Order: sequence, then C-alpha cells, then structure tokens
Amino acid sequence: MSGAGLVRGFEVVIGLETHAQLSTASKIFSGASTTFGAAPNTQACAVDLALPGTLPVLNRGAVERAIRFGLAVGAKVAPLSIFARKNYFYPDLPKGYQISQYEIPVVQGGHVEFVLDGAPRKVRLTRAHLEEDAGKSLHEDYHGQTGIDLNRAGTPLLEIVSEPDMRSSAEAVAYARALHALVVWLGICDGNMQEGSFRCDANVSVRKPGAVLGTRREIKNLNSFRFLQQAIDFEVQWQIDRIEDGLAIEQATVLFDPDSGETRAMRTKEDAHDYRYFPDPDLPPLMIAPEWIASVRATMPELPAAMSARLQQADGLPPDAASMMTQSRPFARFYEAVRDGCDQPRLAANWLMGEVSKRLNAQGRSIESAPVSPQQLGELIRRVVDGTVSNNGARQVFDLLWAAGRIQGEALTESFVDRAIEDLGLKQMNDSGALETIVDAVIAANEKSVAEFRAGKDKAFNALVGQVMKASQGKANPAQAGALLRSKLG
Ligand code: ADP
Ligand code: MG
Repeated sequence: MSGAGLVRGFEVVIGLETHAQLSTASKIFSGASTTFGAAPNTQACAVDLALPGTLPVLNRGAVERAIRFGLAVGAKVAPLSIFARKNYFYPDLPKGYQISQYEIPVVQGGHVEFVLDGAPRKVRLTRAHLEEDAGKSLHEDYHGQTGIDLNRAGTPLLEIVSEPDMRSSAEAVAYARALHALVVWLGICDGNMQEGSFRCDANVSVRKPGAVLGTRREIKNLNSFRFLQQAIDFEVQWQIDRIEDGLAIEQATVLFDPDSGETRAMRTKEDAHDYRYFPDPDLPPLMIAPEWIASVRATMPELPAAMSARLQQADGLPPDAASMMTQSRPFARFYEAVRDGCDQPRLAANWLMGEVSKRLNAQGRSIESAPVSPQQLGELIRRVVDGTVSNNGARQVFDLLWAAGRIQGEALTESFVDRAIEDLGLKQMNDSGALETIVDAVIAANEKSVAEFRAGKDKAFNALVGQVMKASQGKANPAQAGALLRSKLG
C-alpha cells in the first residue's frame, strides 16, 4: 500500500512525532557526556540521578541546534519559551517527571518539503520542542530482573511534531526520510537510527473521504523506515477491519512487534491533562534574542531543497536526480566534484545514481568511503565523452578502479584511469586510418552482406558494423564505424 489512494474505501491520516537526538557533547541540563555505548550508569551525574539539591542548567548548544532547525523549516523561533514538567512514574525516570516544553515551545510552525513519486509534497509542522530523554530499562541479561541504565537520562532531544498531513505509509516514510536527511545535513543530529538518535511515533487514523478525523492510535518508537511503513500498513488494515466489524477505535498507544509485523495495544492513551504539566520552577523562561537568531542564520549551510533547485536550474538535472544528489552533504559534495572534473552534470548524476549507488548499496557503504574518488570518476567520464573508451568499456574500467581502491584502502589517483583503459585493452580506435583499413577489409570479405545492404536490407548493415567491431577487437567506435561504412557503400 504505497500511493495516496484510498485503502478499502478509507482515507488514511497520519501525523508523526519525531525525536531527534541533538548532537551535543553533554546533556541538556547537566555536564555528563552523551557518548553512546558506555558501560551502564557511567555517564549519569547527580543531576541526571535527580539527587536532592541539584539544579538543571540549560545547554546552550541544544538551544542553538533548535534555532538552526527552526530556521531551516521556515518556522517561528520563539523569543520566549517555557520548560515544563511532564509528570509520570517510571523506574527509568528518577525525578518522577520529564523536563519538556508544553504550552510555549521554542520552534513554532514551519514545514518540510520532499518529493513523492516525482511530485513535490509539503507537510506542515505544528511545533518542535526541546526536552530530555529518559533512562533505559534493561530486561535482557538480568535473570528475571530489570536493570536500569541512566546514561541516556538527560540526553537532549528535539521533538518535531507534524500536522496530520500525510495520506499513506509511503508519504509518511518520505516525510521521515526528508526530515532525517535535513537534521543530518544541518549537523544537529547524527541520524544514527540503530542507536536511537532518530525515532518516530506514528499517529494513525482512518476515515471515509470527507468525514471528520477518525480516532487515532499512536505507534511508539519506530526506529527504522521499514518498520515505520510496516507498522502503519498493519495498523491501517487493523483499524479498517475493526470499523467494518462495527466496532469503535479507541484512542490508544500501541507498540510494533517487528517479528510478527503486528501492532499491539500497550495502554489506553493518556491525555495531556493526565501529566499535570506545569512550568518548571527550576528553569527560567528561555529567552532568545534576535541577535542570537541572526548569528545562527549567518552560519546556515545551503539547504538541500535550495541546492536541489540550483542543480535543476544551473546543471539541468531532472527533479528526481537533483534530489538524489542532495540526499546528504557528502553525496552532494561528491557529485559537485565529479561534475567539476568532467563538466557533464547529467552524466555525473547518472553515474552516481547508477554504478556508484549500486555498489554503495550492495556493500553497505556510504559515499565518504567510496573507493573511487570523484576526480577519477570525472576523468573517466571525460574519456567517454572524448571517445577514448566506450560506455561499456568505462563500466569495466570503473569495476577495476573500485576493486583496486578497495584493496588499497583508498582511491587511487586520476592518472590511474588512463592506465586502466590501456591495461584492459579498452582504448577505442580513434585513428581513422586504421579504422578505414578494417572497414575496407570487411567490405571486401563480405560481398553478400554488401549486396544485401545495397538492396535495402538494414539487417545487412548491422552485420557489417558487427564485423568491423569484431575485426577491431571491440576497439572501434561503433558510431564512427557505421558512418565510415555508409560513406563507402552509399
Ligand atoms: P499527543 O500525542 O502528545 O497527545 P497531539 O494531540 O498534539 O499530541 O498529536 C500528536 C500527533 O498526532 C500530531 O503529529 C498530530 O498531527 C497527530 N494527529 C492528531 N490527530 C490525528 C488523527 N485524527 N489522525 C492521525 N494523526 C493525528
Ligand atoms: Mg504523542
């Protein structure tokens, strides 16, 4: 179920709440480290443990990252926002409340743009607020008991809340991918989903077209795009089954089980008033002066959407190619270096979408560790354009470059391209004298095909070109060979 059409006569409505872990070295209200993977409870200080007498101190870097995000999505960055206590009991929450923002969040409004099935889409944001993460309960390896690890307690999060603007699981995934790419591009989140740095809660409801919004169920903590899609697809079918059975949907919080592919009710959904939110008396209102916003604005990188538009305009790339080239900053940098090396934007983009991406995906690599350098690829493309090597030959050269770079552990120099073309015997024959000799010999040796061609049979002409290619051991340029044959026979 991907497109935005109806599902069994129902319209699907989705809003996402996304937690992006902000990439600060220390926690949002304490100086403890946020490095992932430390031994349990070695990175939890007195503030994180909620020892009496400790007070939170706001991390400026976390606020700076929230401002950066707000500017990137065209939101209002609030000059004054308020930290609030969200009260609930859980063993991994020693304070008995989570510090979050409630009525007045730091980022208000804005939108995220992306491309779905070739069409531009826009999802509105409600808000994005700063909050602290909770600790972690460890149920495995504790012999029937539960361990508590408070290393994560106090890790800075930006919770990004969308409007219920999405109409299919595919659209929700496209939005989540665009948001992920954006926070990584901005350098405010490392985007590592396995480590939980970027996770989504999906609010899902269904309705008959034109009806008021249906009751939603919220699927918690989806930390992969595949799970996000599977969980929504399952949930939609479940809700429609229930409605068709004449039953009501109850607002609930559910969990997705990746093993069964099913969602399961965890608890009936609490309402905001259950949390007894109130302003945190330990933290003054967060004031953001216009000068601070201006100084962050001054350091903003060109954004992926703007760069994509530029590549369409200046490089003549189609929209999907431009959005592929801007999937990450390293990818965009690689593309621009290849393009600069060959002055052929479309060919550069085609190589990146084809041969390069194919190998990166198969080997689970990112572009930063590509064993072929952008200068080499640029050089290779130049050699295709100037007729030194055919497209087919270039792919063989590319294979060799990739393999050699892998063995060496780094990309080889550009001059290696010409040597590889020579060594593989792929240099096309550009010496017209030599080509002419071959063409004459082929014409002399294939009287039958020549006669057939003169009688108007195209097939016979192709056979002659084939003979020239064979006689040249594949080194003739087929277009050149064809032209020469035609001029001699015509
Ligand atoms: P909370 O989940 O914290 O109680 P909200 O009411 O603000 O908060 O809603 C959270 C998310 O649920 C938002 O992303 C919003 O777009 C989405 N949402 C609200 N109503 C619906 C609905 N009927 N169907 C699907 N998503 C919804
Ligand atoms: Mg929610």
